[in-house]
Amino acid sequence: MTAMRLRPLIAGNWKMNGSRAQAEALISDLRARRAAQPDLAADLLVCPPAPHVMRVVNLAEGSGIAVGGQDCHTKASGAHTGDTAAAMLADCGCRYVIVGHSERRADHGETSELVAAKAKAALAAGLIAIVCVGETEAERDRGATLDVISSQLEGSVPADAEATNLVVAYEPVWAIGTGRTPTPEDVAAVHAHIRGLLQAWFKDGAEIRILYGGSVKASNAASLLHVPEVNGALVGGASLKSEEFWAIALAAAGS
Ligand code: PEP
Repeated sequence: MTAMRLRPLIAGNWKMNGSRAQAEALISDLRARRAAQPDLAADLLVCPPAPHVMRVVNLAEGSGIAVGGQDCHTKASGAHTGDTAAAMLADCGCRYVIVGHSERRADHGETSELVAAKAKAALAAGLIAIVCVGETEAERDRGATLDVISSQLEGSVPADAEATNLVVAYEPVWAIGTGRTPTPEDVAAVHAHIRGLLQAWFKDGAEIRILYGGSVKASNAASLLHVPEVNGALVGGASLKSEEFWAIALAAAGS
């Protein structure tokens, strides 16, 4: 069966990087590029650090560039010092939130159960949850990639999700920030596997976007983004340079 062509989503994860001035410069530059190419056949999203979200939302307004959070809490409010509720992100104008990024799974011991609860909170707040999954190098070396992806995905995705509020990001942990990437064939195999699971679980599973993430840059974007069942990219380091991020968007759009 040939893959359905879904409108690509190019999402920038700025992580814990940049001053307010740098965030302003980055979104302003992207806004200008987007305005010069109104027919770009791709959706753009940036996920700034929490303190910069509101400023970036303001500067992105009307640009067609969506803004998202990098994480959210499972609860709507309460005594959770340092955390951010999904509803707060929505209230600030965010449309998306990343949950289950491997850096949070590793740095904060987040389990798939917790990630599912965060994704559920995101959906309840009207956000689109970007649920990240990916194998470590050790898991890959012992041939466990597909099993790891199946179990992370099954554990992390809320049962009531649908194509309008769920995006899956496949991010091999060993490829994040390393400059190393899987081969297009390896990416195709994992994405086909994820698509099969989504179709088995959800009525509209064929329409849920599956992003690839891990060392995507302008020079490798075309080869990774035109793999069947790759519906965009989650971009870390390269999303901090507007020229590079824009080139990735153009490659995804086939422009
Ligand atoms: C990420 O952390 O989501 C990511 C893909 O990072 P990078 O592009 O820097 O590998």
